[in-house]
Amino acid sequence: MADKDFYEILGVQRNASEDEIKKAYRKQAMKYHPDRNKDDKTAERKFKEAAAAYEVLKDSEKRSAYDQYGHDAFKQGGMGGAQGFGDFAGGFSDIFEEFFGGGFGGQSSRRRGPQRGSDLRYNMSVSLFEAFTGKKPQIRIPTYVGCDTCAATGSADKSGPSTCSTCGGAGKVRSQQGFFSIERPCPTCGGEGSSIKNPCLKCSGTGNIKKQKTISVTIPAGVDTGTRIRIAGEGEPGERGAGNGDLYIFVEVQKDKLFEREEENLFCEIPISITTAILGGEIEVPTIEGKKARLNIPAGTQSETQFRLRGKGMSILRQSRRGDMYVQANVEIPVNLNSKQKDILREFENEGGTSKKHSPKSQGFFSKLKEVWEDLT
Ligand SMILES: [Zn+2]
Ligand SMILES: [Zn+2]
Repeated sequence: MADKDFYEILGVQRNASEDEIKKAYRKQAMKYHPDRNKDDKTAERKFKEAAAAYEVLKDSEKRSAYDQYGHDAFKQGGMGGAQGFGDFAGGFSDIFEEFFGGGFGGQSSRRRGPQRGSDLRYNMSVSLFEAFTGKKPQIRIPTYVGCDTCAATGSADKSGPSTCSTCGGAGKVRSQQGFFSIERPCPTCGGEGSSIKNPCLKCSGTGNIKKQKTISVTIPAGVDTGTRIRIAGEGEPGERGAGNGDLYIFVEVQKDKLFEREEENLFCEIPISITTAILGGEIEVPTIEGKKARLNIPAGTQSETQFRLRGKGMSILRQSRRGDMYVQANVEIPVNLNSKQKDILREFENEGGTSKKHSPKSQGFFSKLKEVWEDLT
C-alpha cells in the first residue's frame, strides 16, 4: 500500500529546482534503463518508479498537488477510501479537475462543455452517543439554485448560449509562433465553445443564484471520525443545466467523558471497592445507550482487571451486530481511616491476611527476584 515518496525515489530535496529534478531523473533513467539491465526486475521497477515520480514533479501544478496531498492527489477515492458503505463516493477527481482547470491527464485539449456543479464539503461534529444511535439532523448549506429571472439559461431573453464566433464552437484557438503552432483555450468563451450574448443581470449569465437551503441528512449508526457520507446531487448545480455536484459530510466524533472508543469496541474504567475486589460482588456499569449493565466481580479480582461485556460496544455501520465493551476494574485503596478501621486492618494482617499465600502478585515477584539474586551470586 505505502507509496514511495517521489522526492526520495529521485533522491532530491523537497525544495529541489526543476533543473535538479530533471538531472536526477536522467541519472536514474540511465542507470535503470531496461536496455542496460536486461531481465532485471528490480531495475525495471526502479525505472518505472523514477518515470512516475518525474511525471509529477516536472509539472509545477501536479507537484504542488503532490506536496499538499501526497499520493492521494492522483488516486481515485483518496482521502481514506470507502468503509464498506454503498453510497460513499469513489473519488474526488472532479474537485481536482476544478482546482487545476481540468489540466490532468490531457483533458485540457478536450472541448469543455457546461461544467458539472462543485461538490460541497460539510464538517459535522457528533457526540459518541449520536455516533452510536445515528442521527437525522437538518443542516443549512450555502448553495446555488437555478436563476428564476432567466429560467437558468443565463441569458436575459432566455435564449441560452450561442456558438462562439471567435472559435466557431471549438473552444480553442491556434496561433503561429515561429515554426510552432500553439493551441490555447479560446479567450472569448473561455474554452466552452459557446457564450451568452445578452447575460441575465440577476445571475451575471451563470444561470444560478446563491441561496441557503435546509436539507435533512441521515447519519447512520456506527460512524467514526473520518467517515464521509455522500449525498448525491446536493452540491452546487452545474452551469446552465449541467449536473449537480454532490454534498459530502465529513464526520468527526467527539471525545466522550466515560467511554473510549477503539473502532467497534468501547473501553471504560470503573473504580471498585477493596472489599468487592476481595470478597467478590455485583456492580453496575454504565452503557453507551445510557442504561446500566450488571457486572459480576469474582472474589480475588486484582486491580486493572478487564472484563468484557459482549455486544455492549459501538454499533457498526450497516450491521445489526455491535462491538464489545471492556470494563477495567480499578481497585480503590481506602483513605482517611479511623483508628478502629486501622485496628481491623492490623488484625487482618496479624491473621496472615497479607501473607505471600494470599498475595499472588508478590509470590510471582519474589520468586523472580530470587532468580535474579541467585544469578548474581
Ligand atoms: Zn439569470
Ligand atoms: Zn470561443
